Amino acid sequence: NKIIIAIDGFSSTGKSTIAKQLAKQLGYIYVDTGAMYRAVTLYAMEQGLVTTEVTNINGLIESLPKVRLTFTFNEALGFAEMYLNGRNVEREIRTLEVSNLVSTVAAVPEVRQKLVEEQREMGKEKGIVMDGRDIGTVVFPDAEVKLFMTASAQVRAERRYKELIEKGDDVAFDAVLANIEQRDHIDSTREDSPLVKADDAIEIDNSNLSRAAQFDQILEIVSK
Ligand code: C5P
Repeated sequence: NKIIIAIDGFSSTGKSTIAKQLAKQLGYIYVDTGAMYRAVTLYAMEQGLVTTEVTNINGLIESLPKVRLTFTFNEALGFAEMYLNGRNVEREIRTLEVSNLVSTVAAVPEVRQKLVEEQREMGKEKGIVMDGRDIGTVVFPDAEVKLFMTASAQVRAERRYKELIEKGDDVAFDAVLANIEQRDHIDSTREDSPLVKADDAIEIDNSNLSRAAQFDQILEIVSK
């Protein structure tokens, strides 16, 4: 019988890598909820509603019904890509510009309400691995398995920096570290659904854990 696996934690703790790997192994669907918040942020940026100069939260709330988010599985990549109003935005939502504004957008209760509703809908069919910040606490408080991933900010920034550089993004390490620390702060202090470990979540600190060792540990938890 299929279950729901909720993976939460701070930015760049390797949640999505583990979640994808786990979904593949189990034949489950993987849902990256961060991609949904990022896509709403991209929309807000493109409409000039939330930029580095403008923060028009009321305008964003008003235009939310026009934001249609879908995932489409990409066979070649082996995971589902994010589409915003029918357009593939998988690459655009990963830039540092989006990362710098996403936590502001994700703190808006109306945004969370919309996305949580859509996420619960996806979970109606069991056999799902969902990663984010509030999956075990808010979206699926009854998830059969809850994991909470942590790692030091330095280790996380190094990983994210490497990823961005490999993709050809011209970023400075200090900017990546600053972004991670800023998102940690906003995500864990916002009023609506702050990032906290669910009481019944298992915490995994992977600062000094190889990917393989971590995967073994998680598979053992899931198969119990
Ligand atoms: O997971 P990722 O780093 O892509 O998420 C981007 C941002 O989206 C987070 O920093 C957080 O502000 C927001 N988010 C959230 N709730 C989720 C997933 C992401 O608030 N379930």
